[in-house]
Parts: sequence; C-alpha cells; structure tokens
Amino acid sequence: MKTFTSKDLAQSHIKTLKEQGLSIGFVPTMGALHKGHISLVETSKQNNDITIVSIFVNPTQFNNAKDLEKYPKTIEADLEKLERVNCDFVFIPDASELYAPNEAAEIFNFEGLDTVMEGAFRDNHFNGVGTIIKKFFDIVTPTNAYFGKKDFQQLQIIHKLLTITQQPVHIVGCEIYREHDGLAMSSRNVRLSEQHRKAAPFIYATLLEVKKMSLQSSLIDIKSFVEKAFQEHPDLELEYFSIANEKDLLEATAITKATKTRAFIAVFAGEIRLIDNIALY
Ligand code: AMP
Repeated sequence: MKTFTSKDLAQSHIKTLKEQGLSIGFVPTMGALHKGHISLVETSKQNNDITIVSIFVNPTQFNNAKDLEKYPKTIEADLEKLERVNCDFVFIPDASELYAPNEAAEIFNFEGLDTVMEGAFRDNHFNGVGTIIKKFFDIVTPTNAYFGKKDFQQLQIIHKLLTITQQPVHIVGCEIYREHDGLAMSSRNVRLSEQHRKAAPFIYATLLEVKKMSLQSSLIDIKSFVEKAFQEHPDLELEYFSIANEKDLLEATAITKATKTRAFIAVFAGEIRLIDNIALY
C-alpha cells in the first residue's frame, strides 16, 4: 500500500496508473475508519483495478470549530485497517496541500438540496463538501467514486456537484453498514458515553417502526409518533425528522414507490450528533 501526503507526488503516481489504462476507484473519508468505510473500500476493490482512499478532515465543511477540533483521529489504526483489505493507495494531505491560506468554501448552486435537513442545521456544510470533493476529483481523476447512503443528502449533493463541474466520475451509493444492534456505524460513535451508546440503537429501531407504519399510517401520524417517542426518551434529543423524496429531498406529500421516499433523522445523544435514514419503499 502506497501512502502519499504530497498532492504533486500523488498526482504523478495516478498519472502513471492511468497511462497503463487502469480504472481507479476512490473512497474519500475523514478517517477514524470503521467497517462502514471499509465496506466502501471493498466494493471499490471489486470493481476497479486500483483503489485510492483519502483521509482528510475537511475544515470548510465544519460550521462548529469544536466539532472539527474534536473529530477523532486514529491514523495508525486507519492505515492498518486499509492495509488489511489490500487498499492500493492512501492519500493523506495536509490542509495546506489543498487550500490556499484563508481560502473559503466555493459557493455552489445545489438547487435547494443543500438547504433542507443537514443544510438547515449545518450552515455552509455542503459548500464545504462540494469544495473538497471537487478538488479531490481533480487530483484523483477517479473512474468511480464511492459514497455511503448513511449520508444520503451528501450523496445527492455529489450527484448535483457533477452536473455543475462536469467532472467525468461515476458515483456509486453504498448501503448503510450497521452495528449488530442496528446503530449506523459512524466515526462519532466512539465519542458516545456508555449510557448514550446504549440508548443510540433506539434511532434505527424508530426508523424500522416508521417503515412499518408507512404502509398504513398518514404522514402526520408517523411524525407525531416519532416526536413523541423522542420526547419521552431520557437520553436522546430529536433535532429533525423528515420524510422526503429521494430526488429533491423535499418533504413528501405521500409515500409512494414512484417517488422513492426516505425517512431522515438527526438526534443528539448528549453532545454527539447522530444521523440515520431508511428507504420507505
Ligand atoms: P466520513 O469519514 O464520515 O466522511 O465518511 C466517508 C464515507 O463513508 C462517506 O461516503 C460516508 O457516507 C461513508 N460512511 C460513513 N459511515 C458509513 C456507514 N455506516 N455505512 C456506509 N457508509 C458509511
């Protein structure tokens, strides 16, 4: 496994690989890798000659300095995990390799995909995501890039980004990888207190209940059920719950197969913010 910190060295190595006609699968991450990330790497390995993983905690997508500062960093363990699954290439740039001093996020027109749910609660977050992914796609020039449905809104934003930048990358959305008790794997889970870790599977359990209800209940009834469930929960605080169409992420007016509807949730477990979602079709 080759490890690059320099953008120029990474680019010249990638150029050589591409000259050999090799396909490149790319998995952008912020590190603190878990099995969810590794499942993306494995999918990439199955479908590409070379798999490149980036590890970079992108400052422009954090609207909360404390959250950025506290983001878990486990680089040695990350490299071991990637080595174990025979990842070919890891790119670990310093921020100065990717951003000019004081460079801010580029502003994109994501046509409203960025103003709902995560966008409503994390100011400028998706411009930060778009900025870094555009930069990475320019450097890595992947054939395929892999993103988890855990961050479903981000996945839709990346699709929109490509219609704006016209970068020739094929995007693959990968299923959510969960702990045995249903909690969606997240780098943030290691920061949960024992009490909040015990409480957190309630989020997915509620989503499963929503999926069951979606066959016979009204949207209003489903929403009140979720709000009440969290109001009564001693350890978890609901930030938002939305049932939205996959394509435009706007609140659904009905749950139908045709529009592909999903339930989205964000919850605070103490100081830790957790998100999850489920398909309702
Ligand atoms: P992050 O390091 O959190 O930026 O995540 C890097 C990539 O891994 C993103 O495309 C995430 O959606 C994806 N990812 C994170 N957690 C999971 C999970 N539990 N299952 C599947 N993909 C995930």
